[in-house]
Amino acid sequence: MKEKRLKEITFELEKIPHLELLESSSDRDKFSRDFFEYSPILTSQLKGCRADIVVRPRTVEALSSVASACARHKIPLTLRGAGTGNYGQSVPLKGGVVMLMSQLNKIRNFDSATGTVFVESGCLLKDLERELLRHGRQLRLLPSTWRSASVGGFVAGGSGGIGSVRWGFLRDPGHLLGLEIVTLQDPPEILQLDEKSAEALNHAYGTNGIFTALKISTAPAVKWQEVTIDCSDWTQALSLLNTCVRAAVDLHLCSLLENKIVEKIPSWSGKAIGKHRLLILVAPDGVSTLNRLAFKVGAKFNFLGPENYSNGTGLRELSWNHTTLHMRAVDSGWTYLQMLLPCPELSVLETLKSRWGDDLLWHLEAVRQQGVQRIAALPLVRWRGKESLDKLMKECKDLGAILFNPHVITVEDGGLGVIDADQVKAKQDNDPTGLLNPGKLRGWL
Ligand SMILES: Cc1cc2nc3c(=O)[nH]c(=O)nc-3n(C[C@H](O)[C@H](O)[C@H](O)COP(=O)(O)OP(=O)(O)OC[C@H]3O[C@@H](n4cnc5c(N)ncnc54)[C@H](O)[C@@H]3O)c2cc1C
Repeated sequence: MKEKRLKEITFELEKIPHLELLESSSDRDKFSRDFFEYSPILTSQLKGCRADIVVRPRTVEALSSVASACARHKIPLTLRGAGTGNYGQSVPLKGGVVMLMSQLNKIRNFDSATGTVFVESGCLLKDLERELLRHGRQLRLLPSTWRSASVGGFVAGGSGGIGSVRWGFLRDPGHLLGLEIVTLQDPPEILQLDEKSAEALNHAYGTNGIFTALKISTAPAVKWQEVTIDCSDWTQALSLLNTCVRAAVDLHLCSLLENKIVEKIPSWSGKAIGKHRLLILVAPDGVSTLNRLAFKVGAKFNFLGPENYSNGTGLRELSWNHTTLHMRAVDSGWTYLQMLLPCPELSVLETLKSRWGDDLLWHLEAVRQQGVQRIAALPLVRWRGKESLDKLMKECKDLGAILFNPHVITVEDGGLGVIDADQVKAKQDNDPTGLLNPGKLRGWL
């Protein structure tokens, strides 16, 4: 039955102008995967999932025709930006059509009075950032995959990253100011959503609307300077992280890596045997203050100069989940967790370290959460099986950490575990037959 419907839809898709069909077996495999292999649990869960058809529209009209055909033939449709998600967000659980958004990549409008930008979903963050810099602006939040990831994929599938130290997370009010979406209906509608209506589609894994363009806020551009600070002692390093974050300096990134991580990742931030390392992006007028704060506690301050965007070897590319990427490149037996630590953090970090030893290596990121400076952790975890991982997650929770489980496929389970009625309502409105990225919104199931 599905075979017949697939044949019929393929016949229709072939006739749509400005639509490319990618039918080779290798393309179907390639565009059915993301970076879920960081999780051994997701790896075994998702390995058999595969698109039946891959399409790449070049216009919004072609995209609408795909939506209409999927609705008419009851074929699942999964959207794909750059495919850099970590939880199988763009993996088609039920096969069907995977739609590549990369050709819808225009910057439609930049408003110099407000700094807001209206940009098509497939635009790469690096291209958007470059254009904004020409206007004296920059993105507030970027994933460490900012060179390869798309703006639509970041808003639908990401959460925060570089910039979170002062701008919090993507779902905080004020980042996403509006959306243009296409509904999954026959015929589909093209809707312009304001900030309030767009909220329910933010971080919903493309389950409740197809973004064609996004209106987002930006920040004044700062020439960020790279600084590292090395500490011999973990307690001192953590305390210095908190001191730097609370100082009156403008930061874009403030990460802390345990010495056993520093030894293994690429050495472009400088060699440091046995030292715990802070990686910091700071405004030019804050460099001397950080130097003074480091000197005061006897830590070693290193000024690396202004960020160089050209080659992918910046401190950004050692932070957030790039730390996990580099550690796994050396030894794929590492996986990871994501959590917000309770405050004060030290005793929790020490308790877990004393129980798990070198099976747990600390990687911390300073973030702003609901207006308050907090510390998030993305620890490297030695994979010892699901039972062991569950035990560790339980211990983290019991000690007061808020877990964002990266080993699950639904929006809710990777978040706070609760169903968001607005997300489900938006799906009802924009995808009444439940064909968009099926299986990822637990509230719908
Ligand atoms: C090494 C590494 C580091 C990372 N660091 C970070 C980080 O710092 N912060 C962070 O948040 N994430 C991070 N990630 C995860 C990921 O890179 C980001 O979330 C990224 O922004 C996803 O963008 P993408 O274009 O690759 O989206 P994809 O992976 O292609 O898609 C993500 C989700 O968005 C949906 N989607 C895509 N386009 C649309 C659309 N037009 N309309 C509706 N839904 C759509 C997809 O269906 C999918 O559910 C990291 C991943 C890796 C591998």
